[in-house]
Amino acid sequence: MLNLVLFGPPGAGKGTQAEFLAKTFELNHVSTGDLLRTEIAAKTALGIEAKRKIDKGELVPDEIVVGMIKIKLEKNKDVNGFIFDGFPRTLEQAMALDKLLDENETPVTGMLRLEVEKQEVVIRLLNRGKISGRSDDQDRSIIENRITVYCQKTLPIIEYYKLQGKHFEVNGMGSVEEIAGRLKEVVEKIG
Ligand code: AMP
Repeated sequence: MLNLVLFGPPGAGKGTQAEFLAKTFELNHVSTGDLLRTEIAAKTALGIEAKRKIDKGELVPDEIVVGMIKIKLEKNKDVNGFIFDGFPRTLEQAMALDKLLDENETPVTGMLRLEVEKQEVVIRLLNRGKISGRSDDQDRSIIENRITVYCQKTLPIIEYYKLQGKHFEVNGMGSVEEIAGRLKEVVEKIG
């Protein structure tokens, strides 16, 4: 199985590139952001709790997102692999993912880290907000908070994957096609 973690700051283009990689390598695309937005749209208790955090640019509690991933893995046993988009976002989530994958004896193959300059990220998010209507993409202070949370809670994951020899850096600046090409090259090498 090919299990990929697509990593990068909010606005790095993870969603678009994860879709491309899922199609190219026939992987199951798992986006915790999308799963949470589905819960919010359905107005479930989980969705209502998640919305409170998302609207402030904060992270949703680990047990909620890990629980959603667990269900996804259980429901999709006969797949070529997974591409995780926006997950893990904390060290606890990274460790929980390893534990869940260990149970299926299919470890993370690699973590692909999209490197994008902060200024570019803010521009991309504000532009996306105009098109998608996502409220967390329209407010500069929420965006700033998401970036701060990313630096404090999510960046430490890099070291976690580096120590396992599973960290692969990819330049996330340029056109969608250019970035997709770079990602494909790395996946072909590690897959
Ligand atoms: P995204 O669509 O990945 O940008 O996620 C949108 C929002 O959902 C984030 O700003 C978080 O509030 C929440 N979220 C998504 N994935 C996670 C995760 N793995 N852990 C905690 N919160 C998450």
